[in-house]
This record gives sequence, C-alpha cells and structure tokens, in this order.
Amino acid sequence: MKDNITIKKLEVIELARRYMLQQRDIYGNQLWGDFKVKNERRAKNVYSSLGEMYNDVKECQKCPLGSLRINFVFGVGNPNSKIVLIGEAPGRDEDLKGEPFVGRAGQLLNKILNAINLKREEVYIANILKCRPPGNREPQGSEVELCLPYLNEQILIIKPKIILSLGRVAANCLLKTKMNMKDLRGKIFSYMGIRMLVTYHPAALLRNPGLKRPTWEDVQFVKKLYDET
Ligand code: SF4
Repeated sequence: MKDNITIKKLEVIELARRYMLQQRDIYGNQLWGDFKVKNERRAKNVYSSLGEMYNDVKECQKCPLGSLRINFVFGVGNPNSKIVLIGEAPGRDEDLKGEPFVGRAGQLLNKILNAINLKREEVYIANILKCRPPGNREPQGSEVELCLPYLNEQILIIKPKIILSLGRVAANCLLKTKMNMKDLRGKIFSYMGIRMLVTYHPAALLRNPGLKRPTWEDVQFVKKLYDET
C-alpha cells in the first residue's frame, strides 16, 4: 500500500516536470526567466516597500525606452496614500528631474489638489510608463505590456482606496479599452479591485482652459469618495 502511494507521488512529480519542460519549449527562456523572478518575488511576498522595489527595478531596460531616458521616473508621494494618481508617461521635465508631474502640468496638478484640500505629498503620483517616449508620443502597446506590471506592484504595496486616472490615454491603458473622455468621465470603474475614476490630464487643461470646469466637477466627486474612505 505504502509503495503504491510512493509510486503515485513519483508519477505526479514526473508529470509536473514534463509540464514545466513543455512550457519552456513553447514559451522559451524569457518566460522561464520571468517565471523564476516572479516566484522569487512571491517567496518574498512581493516587495515589502516601494524603496525595495525601486532598487530592484530602477535599471530596467525591458523595452527600448530604457536606453533613451535621462532618468527613470518611478513615482512620488505618500506610500500609504488612500489615493493614487496615474498619468501616461514622463515628459521632458519629468525625464530631466526623475519625478512625475513637475513641469507646468505638474504645477497645475498641485493647484487642483490644493483646491480639494489635498497636498501633493499626501497622494501618490505615478505614470503608466517609467521612461519618456521620444517626442512625448503616446505609449505603445508593447511598452505598456512590459511596464504596467511595475505600476501594478506599486498599487499592491500602497493599497489605495481610489485610483484617479489623469487623461484618456492612461485610463485606456489601465482598462484595456479605447473609450473617449466623454464615456470615461463621471463613472466609477474598477482596477485591481480598486475604485477608479477618470479626469482630464492637466496638460489638456493648459491647452484648453475650457476643460477646467469639468475637471473641477470630477475632482469634487473624487474628494467626496476620498472623504468617505
Ligand atoms: S518604460 Fe518601463 S519597461 Fe520600458 S525600460 Fe522603462 S521601466 Fe522598463
């Protein structure tokens, strides 16, 4: 009886071994390597802090943008914030400074936050991409696919109650959709099980001041939810 159980166990181990080899043959060494890294992270229960994660990923060269950047733009703010603000990618000023939302659009974002009694240091701000796309073009699908897992891990560490997507591009990257702002605004979506809202990117407000009023309405709604958490 005991021998039978041992034989069964060996058979299961052999089947598992064959399955893993088959997966490596199908997907190649990259997945094999990713799988190993993910398992190591899981063994560590993901990252214990944003700082630990930053040190691990700051040299990333997973996509071609890595070789073009001046600075890796990880994210900034309160690691225990109830709200995370997400833009699409660093621009020139952000690339120079290594911090998201620091140019004119960043200053406007600070004013918007102040208008709802929030300070920049109270929230956490990051982008879909950590490196600047050339000429500030929109992120490409392959870049998002490679970079978004970093943002997801940041969200797992911070555990916010609300995500505010700044702009159509960031929202569509997160929701994997192609909606326009008209359909994105004024709704509560879910991202990683967290309530997510969408408003205009501050750079759009600089180009079109007429968007200030709807943005004001959006952030008032966000503040209401924020105060309820
Ligand atoms: S954009 Fe993201 S995936 Fe690409 S090199 Fe930079 S950090 Fe890595």
